[in-house]
Amino acid sequence: MRSRWDLERRWKLASGLYREVYNERTQAWQLQKIPKRLRPLCGARTRAGGTCQARAVFGRARCRRHGGLSTGPKTPEGRARIAESNRRRARRRENGAV
Ligand SMILES: [Zn+2]
Repeated sequence: MRSRWDLERRWKLASGLYREVYNERTQAWQLQKIPKRLRPLCGARTRAGGTCQARAVFGRARCRRHGGLSTGPKTPEGRARIAESNRRRARRRENGAV
């Protein structure tokens, strides 16, 4: 059973209203009164070779530029694709590569 909130969010995502979803999470941070500098760093690998210094989106590991706003794969095809990708990475790790 899907909650009304979930449907509302899906509608917003579908209409490209990412900003509102972002604002919801921003407000959640503010409710918890966590100063921005104390929030976790995103840490994604940048094209310059370093790590992203932006702060992560509330409840997520990444900043909004690096997928923090992503709701993840939803379709069966998309979910199968990411599962295969994870399996491949796990196998590579077992074989010693990073
Ligand atoms: Zn980032």
